[in-house]
Amino acid sequence: MKLEGKAAIVTGASRGIGRAVARTLAREGARTMVNYVQGGQDAERVVGEIEKDGGRALSFKADVSSRKEATALVERTVAEFGTVDILVNNAGVLLGGGVLDTTEADWDRCLAVNLKGPYNTMQAAAKVMVKQRSGKIINVSSISGLLGAPEGELAYSASKAGLNAMTAVAALDLGAYGINVNCVAPGWTVTEMVVRRAGGREAFEKLTATKARQAIMGRVGDPQDIANAVLFLASQDSSFITGQVIVVDGGRKDFLHM
Ligand code: NAP
Repeated sequence: MKLEGKAAIVTGASRGIGRAVARTLAREGARTMVNYVQGGQDAERVVGEIEKDGGRALSFKADVSSRKEATALVERTVAEFGTVDILVNNAGVLLGGGVLDTTEADWDRCLAVNLKGPYNTMQAAAKVMVKQRSGKIINVSSISGLLGAPEGELAYSASKAGLNAMTAVAALDLGAYGINVNCVAPGWTVTEMVVRRAGGREAFEKLTATKARQAIMGRVGDPQDIANAVLFLASQDSSFITGQVIVVDGGRKDFLHM
């Protein structure tokens, strides 16, 4: 097992990509803190799935946009598991529209969860990792934060571009302590987030078919595709990689800038 003896936090792990990441890290031996904010029952289900697979996990409610709650998440993990070796900043929300119709409330919430959240958790966890002179931080960004961002995602794209930039700075700051900081930038991945983004099941099916055509690999993402990349970045296999944004999108032709 690649993560035997490690302690991990996965934010927003009650469903979707976070759930797949939590299950994957736990399957590789990490004691895993399953964070959620609203989906308490879903988070408990994920803990149950991990335990059924023979792993160890706990759930913890914390809104990562709150400094107090994000710090409590890290403190509880240290209290339960002894330390934090791996932090996956996965929690995110897709809110707002384009430049003309994004409300101030949506802008503020999107930036608070997607950008301030990782700042909150990263700072608290990095203080633990600096002391032990090792750690892995993986931020779940998006291809929407790269050049060629899709229409109607003003606040979301800005938050994810900010997360990419924050990853590079944190990698510089923490490298001397043996801490790797990287981003995974997924493309269209089938979760509740994209069903809501599409605005209903029928539109979702249509949009998913379009996104599949736009990918070199001819399909859209499954949460496990993203979890596999996170596992690589959480393991020693990636010890010489830091400050990078790894795109996991099946080779989206509309986003290629090679
Ligand atoms: P999702 O199905 O909507 O799940 C989002 C998760 O984030 C849920 O577990 C939710 O918890 C949690 N969450 C939301 N706000 C939170 C907060 N303030 N504090 C703590 N947890 C919070 O979304 P997803 O598609 O799995 O997305 C996961 C990540 O991947 C996000 O960062 C997203 O931007 C990124 N991403 C997704 C795609 C895609 O196509 N799906 C593409 C690119 C990037 P509760 O259920 O408890 O509310």
